Order: sequence, then structure tokens, then C-alpha cells
Amino acid sequence: MTNLINAVPGEFQIISESVHELGKALVLAADDRKKHVLLILAPTERMLPDGFSGELCPVTDGMMMVAPYSAGNAAALRRHFPWTTPVSLRKHRTTIGCGDRLGRASAGHIAAIRKFQALPVLAQQSKRELAMTGRTFQGVVDDAVFAVFECDYRDGWGADGDHLKTIEDIDVALDAGMPMITLDLSDVMNAAAGDLPAEDIQAAFDALEGEYRKRILAEYADQTFVVGPCSVKMDALTARRCAVMYHAAIEFADKVHEHLTGRRGEEFDLEISIDETSSPTLPSHHLFIIRELRRRNIIVSSLAPRFIGEFQKAVDYIGDPEEFDRQLKVHAEIARAYGNYKLSVHSGSDKFMVYPSIGRETNHYLHLKTAGTSWLVAVELMSRKEPALYRRMHQQALDVFQDMLKLYHITADPGRIPALDSLSDSELPKLMTHPDARQVLHIAYGPILTGALREEFFSALHRHEAAYTEAIRLHFEKHLSLLGVPGR
Ligand SMILES: [Zn+2]
Repeated sequence: MTNLINAVPGEFQIISESVHELGKALVLAADDRKKHVLLILAPTERMLPDGFSGELCPVTDGMMMVAPYSAGNAAALRRHFPWTTPVSLRKHRTTIGCGDRLGRASAGHIAAIRKFQALPVLAQQSKRELAMTGRTFQGVVDDAVFAVFECDYRDGWGADGDHLKTIEDIDVALDAGMPMITLDLSDVMNAAAGDLPAEDIQAAFDALEGEYRKRILAEYADQTFVVGPCSVKMDALTARRCAVMYHAAIEFADKVHEHLTGRRGEEFDLEISIDETSSPTLPSHHLFIIRELRRRNIIVSSLAPRFIGEFQKAVDYIGDPEEFDRQLKVHAEIARAYGNYKLSVHSGSDKFMVYPSIGRETNHYLHLKTAGTSWLVAVELMSRKEPALYRRMHQQALDVFQDMLKLYHITADPGRIPALDSLSDSELPKLMTHPDARQVLHIAYGPILTGALREEFFSALHRHEAAYTEAIRLHFEKHLSLLGVPGR
């Protein structure tokens, strides 16, 4: 084996954790100064493991294949090294959605999470993110597979088809090997009924099937549910309102759950997401939903309510942290009382103000979903290392701001950001502590990553790869420490 590794030509920089024996062959990852590739070495060509494809080059004492980071080679890695395959994390208490939009952040995520009693969902993208970055679910999973291999990370990791709304889309994520599905119920739930007056609720309720109505009233109307030290009261109007709001959504969740079971047995994580609404999820509604799901034997790994206050991209929590804590306590008690599923906090990155509360109240039965923050770490890196490139990224972000606002709810005012030409290069990194600048750059990832700056950005990121991994590690360690996740 040592002979074989010595045969790797000097132009390749070996990624040390990635060196793995496979029979009489060696499989490893290396940097060819432009990108990462797999190198597969064996004493003879016939001894090369099957499934990989690439260019063959004879080396001292054997044969080497230079295999690109392709879908086929990712599949071969998963087959030969089963720990590179994403798995269900339903039995794990604390999981962190990493939401790497670049496909380059996983090494940093892994380095941070290794120190804590938590597991990463390294691959996690929504359809919107895929559209904005020109990626596919398969590509997102494969990027994480290569990173897991490079880091020799064997503790298990997840992959999340985020905010999916239809069985067709769920199938695309499942086909890509994603074991976690975040089912976004916002299209099938009747959110508008949240504000309807009593007579309209009554009329809509009366249109539901008779047996169902009877059961709902018997089970919920004017009942008090004790969950741990809290109690959740449900008057008759709320019972009817919940039925009107969630009846169709729960039927759909049932269909999805059956579909997931059919395709993956028990090896999946179903997250129920009701967070994309304008008003916070009331404890009584949360309780209604989970009881109805459990009644149908739907196994929920995590559930994402809409919490009080605002979870805007790139900035800390906006709202009253004490009120947040009070309401979170009840949501956490409901989750404990009905099966100990994880509460899922979306847009969860950088909400440092409320992390101690989130960690404490959930007792770390928690899925924290982060999305763009790893992109923002890369932007910050560019402001330090590549000021000229940063200036162009910043300008492009300002140019596309009005368009991006149609997709993301943020309250940034570009007018408050200091003008670029008033700042020296050494002052640029300060912009990344400026909430308005952070938000403007945060939501501009699509145009920057798919437009004229794409190539330059990715080659700069490759040049500063070690610094990026380190910056991500520090950023995620900060997240996990403030959440109070126990160390290993
Ligand atoms: Zn969400």
C-alpha cells in the first residue's frame, strides 16, 4: 500500500484523511491544484475496483485512475464505502441542517459537528435554492458524499429535500438518495382560516364529513390537554378552526408518509413544516396537528412551527426573547408529550440571542436548520482575501436587490450601507458585521453563483479552501456551543 501511495505523482496534493484501502487497491481524494479528484491505485489495471470511471495512467508499481467528482463516481463511492451514504437520523436527538449552497462547506461543518453530540444533515436544499444555484438534488447529495469521503466521516449524516410540497418533487429527492423529506404543508393547509370569523368557520366546518366532525368535537372542543407542567386549552371554536385549517393537510401528510414507508421502509425522516405562514403557530394548533398525525400512525422525526418574532436571513432574532422563550416552552412540552420528536427551527442560523433558550427548552431534541449562513461565511472570506472580487459581488448584490426581495422577506435597507468607493480594502470586512449589508449579500447568492462572477468566485474559494473550512468550523462551533449541545 505504501508503495502505491508513493506512486501518486507530485502534481496531486493528497487529502490525508481520504486515503482508504479497498482490497488490494487504494482509493483517495486529491487536489490537482484546480479541483478535487479521486485517485484509484492498484498493482494492475484488473485489480482496480469496479464502478469508477476516469483516465488511466500507469505509475511505478501499478496503475492509477484519475476519476472526476461525477455522479457515477459518487455512486461507486457509496457502494464501496457504505458510510458515505446519507441515512435516516430519526433516532438522533440533535441534528443540524447545514444547507451548503456551494457544495464546498461540508468539511467545515463536519469539523465543527465532530466535537459535539449532534449529527449533520450535510445535504439540504429546497427547490428554490436548486433553481437559484442551478444544482440538482443528486448533485447536492454527491457533493456531500465526496466531502464525507475526504474527511473519513463515519458517524452518519443526513440529506434533506427541503420544503417539498408534492409527491413528484419528493420522488426526485428520494431518487437522489435523500432520506429526509421536509414536507411543507403551506399549500394544502387553509392558512386563511386562521383569521376567519366564527360564523365562517362554522360554515366551513359544517361542510366536512359528519363522522369526522363528531370525533373532532368530542375529542377537542372545550378540552384541556396537560403537557408536562403546561396545559393547552382548546375551546370549541378553536377545535373547529383547526379542523378547517388542517384537515386536508393531515390527509396529505398521511399520503406522503405512506409513500415514504413504501419507498424506504423505516429509513426516512419526515419533517412536517408549517412555518411558512404569516402568523405564529399557536400551541393549540401544534397540539391538534401532532395528535391528528399520531392518530394516523404517522411517524414524525421533526416538526417546524412558525415561532413568534422574526427569523430573518443573516441577522439575529428579531422580537421579544422572553416571549419567544415562553411560547417555545409550550411547543417543547407538546413535542415531549407526543413522542419526543425534534422541534425544528428554520432560518435558524445566526439567531444567537435565542440559542440558549432553544437548547434549554427543547432539551436538545432539536433540528436546527441553517441555510445561507455558510454562503455568507464565503462572502466574508472574499471581503478579507479577495477585495476586488468582493467589490464586484457586493455591487451585483445591490443591483439585484429589488428582484431578490420578491423571493425573500427581509427588512434590509441598502441605503444604510456605506458606499463601496468610500471604503478602503481593509475596511471591507467590516461590512459583514453590518446587518443591512449581510442581508443584501445573503439573498443575492443565486445571481452571483450563476452569473458572470461564478467561475472567478469558485476558483477563489478553491484557492482559500483551508481558510474557508476553518471559518465555517468556527462559525458552526459558535452555533453549537451557544445552543448548549454537549461536547463529545
Ligand atoms: Zn422553513
